[in-house]
Amino acid sequence: MSADHREQQPGQQGSRIDPHVGRYAHRAQGMVASEVRALFAVASRPEIVSLAGGMPNVAALPLEQIGDLVKDVVSEEGTAALQYGSAQGDPVLREQICDYMTLEGIDAAADDVIVTVGSQQALDLITRVFVDPGDIVLTEAPTYVTAINTFAAFQADIRHVSMDDGGVDAQELDEALTRAAREGRTVKFFYTIPNFQNPAGITMTAERRAAVMEVCERHDVLVIEDNPYGLLRYDGEAQPTLYSMGHGNVIYLGSLSKTLSPGLRIGWALAPAAVRAKLVLAAESAMLSHSTFNQLVVRRYLDTFPWREQIKTFNAMYGERRDAMLSSLSALMPEGCTWTEPEGGFFVWATLPEGIDAKAMLPRAVTERVAYVPGTGFYADGRGRSSMRLSFCYPTPEQIREGVRRLVGAIEGELDL
Ligand code: PMP
Repeated sequence: MSADHREQQPGQQGSRIDPHVGRYAHRAQGMVASEVRALFAVASRPEIVSLAGGMPNVAALPLEQIGDLVKDVVSEEGTAALQYGSAQGDPVLREQICDYMTLEGIDAAADDVIVTVGSQQALDLITRVFVDPGDIVLTEAPTYVTAINTFAAFQADIRHVSMDDGGVDAQELDEALTRAAREGRTVKFFYTIPNFQNPAGITMTAERRAAVMEVCERHDVLVIEDNPYGLLRYDGEAQPTLYSMGHGNVIYLGSLSKTLSPGLRIGWALAPAAVRAKLVLAAESAMLSHSTFNQLVVRRYLDTFPWREQIKTFNAMYGERRDAMLSSLSALMPEGCTWTEPEGGFFVWATLPEGIDAKAMLPRAVTERVAYVPGTGFYADGRGRSSMRLSFCYPTPEQIREGVRRLVGAIEGELDL
């Protein structure tokens, strides 16, 4: 499960003192396991409805056909499937990725694509290549927890920019960039998840995208566009990618984790040629070569399987789950609670009445047999206490309805209703 918090004190491993604590590099000192991880062990108990994890429902894939495909890779590709490959990734797969990206309106050349071990590795490589300790990285508030962890691991100064229902606040972004310039500080990039944001579920409007790109171009700042959920849209109109609106100042990240399988670990970055070359060198030192085998499995999947239809199947399933969550929230949530209404992706962001601490409420929720992720983990600065991320990707609609009932029981307990 991809969760996700950094609460434990450096030097502690559970209750034991780590004898190597004096040896770690500075950058490793902030790398600590989350106290909420313990919650995830609880959340996976069968009696708990987990609205916490962001795991795709891979059970919707036709396992038998995937098994045949894997067998065919071994019998038809032979030893080539078992050999080293390149750090940039299989060239045929990169062509197929370009074909996949046309569904997002992106026109790209295979040479500008680097395959990565999920888009998570792209985040790591980009941060490795661009960020020195103390450099500013701007992100939406809240943002993807493992991106925060990656930026923190490279000792970035992470600064947040607020969002509203239309996406990140372009004026606040402008002000953050102006302030950094006044401080004489370098902003290395602005990291954004424009579609069905993790955790907020918000999609940036077309007007906001134009405003954000105008601000970033005026300040000459690089944009990292992380788009793993873009094709998981259940209603509303697709929006143009920032990549297609930019002029060489956007690195685009894609992934098959949500539209095929996270276990295959295939993601990618689309970057200007000079940056792509640096990323490939960083990838070589990180892992030498990709898994040739996994790439060939995915190559065959994209070549022989009706994958566009599979995405439609995923969308029908997730759309029904999203509807189950939103209708249950509307029917049951106590007054004073608010939540976002995502047009796609996996997540709803709910905010409780002032004074209720979502993290402090978690034990009560677990007693009610429901789990969620408290909001604070999605900020680098301790905000988010009254908020929580609710995911609808994994539980069935019936489980979601029951989970929301239990959650509301916990909230009412806190409100002393
Ligand atoms: N970015 C975002 C916004 C995500 O939600 C995730 C997965 N939870 C990732 C990147 C990483 O995904 P992967 O490495 O599986 O492609």
